[in-house]
Amino acid sequence: MPIKVLDDRTVARIAAGEVIERPASVVKELVENALDAGSSQITVETRGGGVAFIRVIDDGAGIPSGEVELAFGRHATSKLAQIDDLESLDTLGFRGEALPSIAAVAEVEMVTSVANATGGDFVQLQNETVTSHTSQARPRGTTVTVKNLFRNVPARLKFLKSTATENSHIAQVVSQYALAFPEVRFTLLTDGRSSLQSPGTGKLLDSVIAIYGVETAQKMVPISTDEAAWQSDKRPDIKVAGMVSSPVVSRAGRDALSFFVNRRLISSRLLTFALEEAYQGLLMQGRHPIAVINITLPPVLVDVNVHPTKSEVKFQDERAVFSAVQRAVRGTLVNLAPIPKIEEVGHSYQGTRPIPTHPTRLWTLPTQEIGTMTTPPGVQSTPPLLPSVLPALRVVGQVGTNYIITEGPDGIYIIDQHAAHERILYEKLKGQQAGRNIELQGLLEPATLEVTPRQDAVLKECYLELREYGFTIEPFGERSYLVRTVPGVLSRGDWLTAVREFLDDPTGRDKERSEAIIKTLACHGAVRAGQTLTDEEIRSLIRQLEQTENPYNCPHGRPTLIHLSIRQLEREFGRG
Ligand code: ADP
Ligand code: MG
Repeated sequence: MPIKVLDDRTVARIAAGEVIERPASVVKELVENALDAGSSQITVETRGGGVAFIRVIDDGAGIPSGEVELAFGRHATSKLAQIDDLESLDTLGFRGEALPSIAAVAEVEMVTSVANATGGDFVQLQNETVTSHTSQARPRGTTVTVKNLFRNVPARLKFLKSTATENSHIAQVVSQYALAFPEVRFTLLTDGRSSLQSPGTGKLLDSVIAIYGVETAQKMVPISTDEAAWQSDKRPDIKVAGMVSSPVVSRAGRDALSFFVNRRLISSRLLTFALEEAYQGLLMQGRHPIAVINITLPPVLVDVNVHPTKSEVKFQDERAVFSAVQRAVRGTLVNLAPIPKIEEVGHSYQGTRPIPTHPTRLWTLPTQEIGTMTTPPGVQSTPPLLPSVLPALRVVGQVGTNYIITEGPDGIYIIDQHAAHERILYEKLKGQQAGRNIELQGLLEPATLEVTPRQDAVLKECYLELREYGFTIEPFGERSYLVRTVPGVLSRGDWLTAVREFLDDPTGRDKERSEAIIKTLACHGAVRAGQTLTDEEIRSLIRQLEQTENPYNCPHGRPTLIHLSIRQLEREFGRG
């Protein structure tokens, strides 16, 4: 093909792709504009995952009549006049790209009015061209409506995820800004239902309550800015404020980590690392804190112009920011006395009433489970291949409250009790699922489950699906649900963590998702490392492991046992 210059429309769509990746990007840009306009109330309404409809209503400054069409021009901005202005930037926007980019990939309407204006403007754009511009009365502020996103970019449309996933990204964006701007009242309506409402009191705690719920908020502490934490700080121009979770609560993912630099939402692996390092030794492996970290520093010390979506920044002195965050968080955590032990963290039930458990122990291995791995009707059970059969093992004892030592026909078998039980439960669940009869267990008293807006979006879509796995979950007011039954394998385990883990990471569909759910159930239903087992329980565990189809690996692929053959022992002892 000969070289030629692309036409304007193609250039615009390519450029728009960098700024507008998915519906949540539209929400982000429009909310940023509303914030830059000094709004005190921002309402976001979406339909169909934001693809069909997004509307953002604000009560900010509005756009003067003569500039309304210009606002949609490429690189048209009221926030920056020359490059040096970037060094004193106090707005979220500055590139003048959002409105034209949105207009390149969707139909847009705007109604806007400045203070005391007698009227207001209505403007409509299709394919980046103004199709209507009339006057329309409106109180001070701006309403932008975006319809049929990516209709003209089918390739992009194809890459969007399910409505629930797109809704959860949108909820995440609005939640983050509600945390960054506690003085602004945010409302998010998803398909007509209220999914988030922040009170706009100006207090961070109130925003945290709105996003994470009262019970989690009670376990959050403000970052202490007291002198002790700052004594060794050589950089008083870098300030760190916000709230972090005490180690009694944690998350399976990093969704609840929010970093703002001069109130701009950023993602930074460096700062995530700084934060998590401050929690070192306080959280179990694989668990993450909840945090809102506000970093304030002179604008000249940070370059915000490194990424089209402005989500990454470059610090002039990375080390200084890193250590400021780490020291502030660590200082806050050590002030918390007493620091809970990791064991306690493992069993904390976040955000719900305690569920009825056996008073003395959280977990017991029911001995009657021996041999009850029934073959569901209609499903052919493949006889285990000979070499994969575990030989009969004689239990010698438990070591390090996790390893079971057994003797077999050819030496010693050391079994990881958690991995082994995971394998047993996994196969049991797979069998039950194939027969569509996953065992469930009623809770003596229904438990309430409070979820974040993001988790809410996922749960709304799939709470019925979760029934297949034994969870009877019903909507119960705003962002709260009633849990009546849980999968039988979890009745004594940590079903709540299992639910949250799934809600935080709902990726995959159908088979893949089902596999992920079953693995999560098996993992949380299984006996933990560190639990002392009675001889009877150990024997039961071994008998059940012997009956599995693949006794050698847990569902994640890790070994369940290590075999030390007689020959190996002889070699080690210099006999062979
Ligand atoms: P940027 O935010 O980078 O300046 P945008 O394309 O997002 O670029 O917006 C272009 C201009 O339109 C802004 O600079 C601002 O003057 C005006 N504008 C956009 N949205 C709003 C709003 N909600 N309220 C007031 N002015 C707005
Ligand atoms: Mg903007």
